[in-house]
Amino acid sequence: MSEFIRNLQSLNAKQREAVLIDQENALILAGAGSGKTRVLTHRIAYLCQEKNISPLNILAVTFTNKAAREMKERIENLLGFSTVGMWIGTFHGIAHRLLRQHASELGFDRRFKVLDQDDQLQIIKKVIHSLNLDEKFYPPKYLQSFINGKKDEGIRAIDLPTEEFNNEIIKIYQVYEVRLRANNALDFADLLLYAYELFKENMVLSQYYQRRFQHILVDEFQDTNSVQYKWLMALKSDTNSIMAVGDDDQSIYGWRGARVENIKHFIDDLASVRIVRLEQNYRSTQIILDAANAVIANNPKRMGKMLWSEKEKGEKISVYEAFNERDEADYISAKIYDLYHTHHVSLSDISVLYRSNAQSRVLEEALLKTGIAYRIYGGMRFFDRAEIKDALAYMRLIALRVDNLAFERVINLPARGIGQKTIESIRKYSTVHDLSLWHASCEMIERKLLPTRSAASIQKFIDLIEDMAAVKNLMKLGALMRHVIDFSGLMLMHEQSKAEKSQQKCENLKELVNAAAEFIPPIEDVAEEDLLVEFLNFAVLESGEMQAAEHDDSVQMMTLHMAKGLEFPYVFISGLEDGLFPSSRSVEVVDKLAEERRLCYVGITRAMRHLTLSYCKIRHQYGDMSYQIKSRFLQEIPKEYLQYVRNRKPEKLEKTMGFGISPFDFVKEQNTEAEFKIGEFINHTKFGIGVILKLEGEGDNLCYHVDFKAGEGKKVLLAKMAKLMKL
Ligand code: ATP
Ligand code: MG
Repeated sequence: MSEFIRNLQSLNAKQREAVLIDQENALILAGAGSGKTRVLTHRIAYLCQEKNISPLNILAVTFTNKAAREMKERIENLLGFSTVGMWIGTFHGIAHRLLRQHASELGFDRRFKVLDQDDQLQIIKKVIHSLNLDEKFYPPKYLQSFINGKKDEGIRAIDLPTEEFNNEIIKIYQVYEVRLRANNALDFADLLLYAYELFKENMVLSQYYQRRFQHILVDEFQDTNSVQYKWLMALKSDTNSIMAVGDDDQSIYGWRGARVENIKHFIDDLASVRIVRLEQNYRSTQIILDAANAVIANNPKRMGKMLWSEKEKGEKISVYEAFNERDEADYISAKIYDLYHTHHVSLSDISVLYRSNAQSRVLEEALLKTGIAYRIYGGMRFFDRAEIKDALAYMRLIALRVDNLAFERVINLPARGIGQKTIESIRKYSTVHDLSLWHASCEMIERKLLPTRSAASIQKFIDLIEDMAAVKNLMKLGALMRHVIDFSGLMLMHEQSKAEKSQQKCENLKELVNAAAEFIPPIEDVAEEDLLVEFLNFAVLESGEMQAAEHDDSVQMMTLHMAKGLEFPYVFISGLEDGLFPSSRSVEVVDKLAEERRLCYVGITRAMRHLTLSYCKIRHQYGDMSYQIKSRFLQEIPKEYLQYVRNRKPEKLEKTMGFGISPFDFVKEQNTEAEFKIGEFINHTKFGIGVILKLEGEGDNLCYHVDFKAGEGKKVLLAKMAKLMKL
């Protein structure tokens, strides 16, 4: 039997139909795990093997570099030979390749530079200054996201209608473009837009590529943006064909400009499109699939599709109601430990998914404690993230003024008008006089060796650090961390930023406060004043090498967004709480909520064999704790598919409950006479459920400080009168 026939036999009738389509445009519209990506790879193999199409005549676009690599591997396995010459990649990767070859047609040198976000921001700042505009009224980060957003829609500065937009903004965009050209530089969004303009303006070239790419195949089509769609259409001719593969229920990048309507446009814009629907899911057990279908059924405006599985019903979905995020992380790591050691599941078959990056920290800690290797995919480990390192640099300076690296990192962060020239002169002075940068600055100010304005700015910075250091021993570590993040201006800087990741950075900073508040030093009896240094050492150890290498057997941790297209036998989704998932920004807006629900659908359908969902009753955010309500998505899953699990011995749970609740309000000692302990939940006849924050007084005067749920807030109650009940 030929290789080709064998390959075909591994497909169902519908998939085979899609693979064997002739030179026709096609839309493969199907739910998760139905073999869309499989169809795409088999089709490429079929075209090469049976239709004798050269790999040079194929263009395949996927969503991430990882997906592109995997697709290449899969095709090579099917074909048994290398796919050199075939263009497989992401939209950005392919556009880049194209522009390198045709830079001169666009008036660029072929050694053009691609700017990263930071470079781009610097240029925007320079443009604002060159136009004598004030950053206060024209915040650079806002302009950055404005320009990128417009480019993603295919709009250049000259296309902006003057009656709709502020003239100065148009001007900034224009001058920015001129600067980029003068520097032979392109920003990220330019890659796509120029690639499109190249085809639009150069018929000879577009015809060449239309002839070359006889077969264009696009995976994850539901997440294409405007320019990507236009670019694809510009590549289309009467003789070549496009196969788009997608699932409207998995469109999760609307917030970044993705247009799910492109699926409809695709059908309308092309003369004829063969639509194939795949309905059998091969990935998940029936229960997982039914749960996913039940959740997504709550979304309005769906294209609608059937999805069934021949697989066994499978185990019920486990749901763990955690006391707090630490308890949740402990549960997940204990389960993983059990899967690995008792059931011999390989770690790479396990994935832990979460809505926001900041959630990874507690999970990472729990895994490290259990000795389980993990890898954070598509993101950095918590303590490696830039905003975390910035905040810690302040802490390092507070602990030790001679820390030059920390000094350099934050001397002008947030910007306080200390330029590179000044920093360079401090560096020189420090070398010549063998002083730390800190002490060099102090001396230079004293000896009036710095220009007045710079000297004033540096003095302000020095005062800031000294003020923080002065309160260091008056505050607990969590409170100090919060103080530093607030008073340094770091939090404000990210809050005011309009950059794409700023929200995430704020969340991470808040999470750092939690980390400091909960920190328990590895050795006992550390004096309160040495806790900071211990914490900084801990942060260093936590960052860097401890992450497993890419091919090591390790648990795969990632945000739900990053999990698109992937599958794992065992999946844990953590933090299913309203306000977190769905995110607080989405619950009020119908379209955003629908996108969150699609994200939940994506998450659930990653699981092949077993799915565990978890949520916390209490979650710490920015050192405060809040009561959480379980996610509406969890409530949308019919109860018969769920089994609530409780896997903890009470003593162990109590230990978990005891620490890290509120870093600021607690006294450390526990009163042994009191009926209730700090951190314990109680019920009050009038105020309802609350948690004990603090104990005060003794005997008849013993009082409980209690934080009540449901808006009652904090109250101090006399123990003997309060009639509190254990929960
Ligand atoms: P997603 O929507 O998540 O991107 P998908 O539709 O692209 O999913 P694939 O990843 O292609 O789905 O396939 C899901 C799983 O089902 C894979 O493990 C794949 O190998 C398997 N599979 C698909 N079709 C078949 C088939 N006909 N026989 C056996 N296994 C199949
Ligand atoms: Mg896929």
